[in-house]
Amino acid sequence: MKPLHHLSAVALRDAFLQGEVSAVQIVEAFLERIEHHNGKLGAFLTILGPRAWMKAEALDKKRSHNQPLGKMAAIPVAIKDNMHIAGEITTCGSQFLSNYKAPFYATAVHRMEQEDAILIGKTNMDEFAMGSSNENSAFFPAHNPWNLNCVPGGSSGGSAAAVAARLALIATGSDTGGSIRQPAGFCGVVGYKPTYGRVSRYGLVAFGSSLDQIGPLGTTVADTALAMEVMGHHCPHDATSLDLPPETYPLSKKLQEGTVIGIPWQFLKGLNPEVRENFQQALEVMKSLGAHLVEVNLDILKYSIAVYYILATAEASTNLARFDGIRYGIRSKAGKTLEEIYDQSRKEGFGREVKKRIMLGTYVLSAGYQDAYYKKAQKVRTLILHAFDQAFGQCDAVMMPIATSGAFEHGSIQDPLEMYLQDIFTVPANLAGLPAISIPSGYDRRGMPLGVQIIGPQLCDVAVMQYAHAYEQASSHTRIPGNYAS
Ligand code: GLN
Repeated sequence: MKPLHHLSAVALRDAFLQGEVSAVQIVEAFLERIEHHNGKLGAFLTILGPRAWMKAEALDKKRSHNQPLGKMAAIPVAIKDNMHIAGEITTCGSQFLSNYKAPFYATAVHRMEQEDAILIGKTNMDEFAMGSSNENSAFFPAHNPWNLNCVPGGSSGGSAAAVAARLALIATGSDTGGSIRQPAGFCGVVGYKPTYGRVSRYGLVAFGSSLDQIGPLGTTVADTALAMEVMGHHCPHDATSLDLPPETYPLSKKLQEGTVIGIPWQFLKGLNPEVRENFQQALEVMKSLGAHLVEVNLDILKYSIAVYYILATAEASTNLARFDGIRYGIRSKAGKTLEEIYDQSRKEGFGREVKKRIMLGTYVLSAGYQDAYYKKAQKVRTLILHAFDQAFGQCDAVMMPIATSGAFEHGSIQDPLEMYLQDIFTVPANLAGLPAISIPSGYDRRGMPLGVQIIGPQLCDVAVMQYAHAYEQASSHTRIPGNYAS
């Protein structure tokens, strides 16, 4: 058998089910990898060693007694540190929550554990999921396994780095404006953002509630599909959870006959030549699979960054009002009065980026400015939805690159606007609630991974997975970064 970390999650589960490997051996192998690599990679904030051992022993026992095993049996899964696991710390990448022990489970995480996944650790992230590089983590930055000088992307950078380096075979991420898909693209793995409401947000620390979605990162489309099958269930604790039956994801190497892919060429003008060439190669693959390509008009997406950074900050400013040092997290010792405790705790607990966003969000919601900013942004959001509706009248899915370049070097982007522009290709799917997937599409001249994105109409999660799987099977760009293969 290949080394365990060379297997896909599905293959590893099957090897466990067939008795070729024990769950204890799996945990041993992956914990050893984490121990060996995490110091340099910074992918994990917490390693759930005792929990993983216990689960592994229970699984081996279950198997030896021929008891039924779950869909994710013995797959080592990493959880982004903004999702709760009862009894474990959820830091959300912030000093504020560095002592916060979760009293309950995030539904999506719980469902995976109930299907016998082994939760192996909590992954590094930008504080409160605000960022595109993981450099906003309050603890330490995560690094890109393809080149440690480069960022892994953000905010789910720890999850992407963990999966790319095969320290876990599946990880969860949360995607408010691209935080699953962009790091997946930067690290050469698959990242999936479901239709808004498909996966419960219960137990996810809220950032921008009308945008946030939990989704999986994996080394293959089939692995992310498996995770979606498990996570994508209705949940009564989340009022925005879709009350629909869970889906299965039958995947095939072929595209359905007559599949039409829309490309918003006008919106993509000015693409860096290397990214354009890579994207064009991906389109050729789709054509060779029988897809018909058409141009669609999504020019309005040029406003999506402006709209996103108004709406996401507005929602964040209200969501983060609950962090006051009384109910959650760290309480400042400097304050004497209640007011001072609130102020000081927030001053000490939050990092720069979070404070900046709270201020921006408070500003766009303020009495004097909400018509000019917040309400206007809501209107443009509706126009973006309409533009997608129109585009999907002409095509089954839209394709575009996942980012304007491959992963950049740590510290190389200092200008906040330039950083925010990183999200230009990812935020549209959040604004319109659409399912979208990032798939490896090759490498740039430096050898850093590039990715393409497939976006489908709302509720067409299964179709998006199917297109992505067909593309992946026909192109196969997924590799293990050199230093992590052995
Ligand atoms: N990079 C975006 C931001 O900083 C997206 C973050 C996310 O999806 N959580 O807001």
